Amino acid sequence: MKKYLLGIDLGGTTIKFGLILPTGEIVHQWSIPTNTEQAGSNITTEMIASIQQVLQQKQIGLDEIIGAGMGCPGTVDRTEGSIRNAFNLGWTTPQLVRAQFQENLGLELVIENDANVAALGEKWQGSGEDAANLVFMTLGTGVGGGVIVNNQIVEGVGGAGGEIGHFPVICSHEFSCTCGNSNCLETLASATGIVNLAKKYRKETETSLNHFEELSSAQVFQEAQAGDKVALQVVDEISAYLGTACSVMANLLNPSVIVIGGGVSSAKEFLLDKIAHHFEQGVFPTVKETTQLKLATLGNDAGILGAAYLVKEGENNV
Ligand SMILES: [Zn+2]
Repeated sequence: MKKYLLGIDLGGTTIKFGLILPTGEIVHQWSIPTNTEQAGSNITTEMIASIQQVLQQKQIGLDEIIGAGMGCPGTVDRTEGSIRNAFNLGWTTPQLVRAQFQENLGLELVIENDANVAALGEKWQGSGEDAANLVFMTLGTGVGGGVIVNNQIVEGVGGAGGEIGHFPVICSHEFSCTCGNSNCLETLASATGIVNLAKKYRKETETSLNHFEELSSAQVFQEAQAGDKVALQVVDEISAYLGTACSVMANLLNPSVIVIGGGVSSAKEFLLDKIAHHFEQGVFPTVKETTQLKLATLGNDAGILGAAYLVKEGENNV
């Protein structure tokens, strides 16, 4: 009997797997390192081997798996079932992952962009509370986004819908983005951006941030909470950018919730309250009454849960 959803979260350093019940309960989860050697040419075969090995250990037959879902970086071709331009995996040319899963495991695989998948995870089992309209924003090394409107992921004509990280920010800085533009939201409000901004400001003045040779975004938040003026200036500034970005999205979409996750969000209410302050200044009254800002609750499990949900609900209607 078919019982389990197989959720896969393919990342640049780790591949996470989960056997998940249709109720959302994670029965078993495991991970393997991502082998990016030889342009990542062994990644798919190693994923397949790991799945075979764990199913054998657990004495679970492939016929008990309803289907597999996967969140991944790069550009997904949903028709072909392939991934390309996933530079942190070493994949530039299209990788026919769905066909390899079908051939070796006999499993149907649904592939989707990783931020969209995390958005689905938060919608299903996290702070999204099954909202039909939700925006997910992840603040990590970069800034990623997933937008769900009427229970459907907004993919856009080129598959790049929800690229919140590349919202242009009007500011006095000159930070170049990996996309080729300058001052994209992620050049300022990602973990990397926060450190770059803090390093720029600390040069100019006396601050506790000068006590750290290498600086992390967590240290910037820690010093801001301890009252360091320069650290606070950095946090206030990036909160303004994030709050404005959230108000633009909310005025456009009026979602039930904008969920904020990723490593930077571990600053929790300290960050959320500052973002909310700027958000409220920029939203239309009805939007202010109906769209909530919330912290993500699933952490690292959002990927496998969202990938399982892809299978549960079908590719195009989530
Ligand atoms: Zn950019």
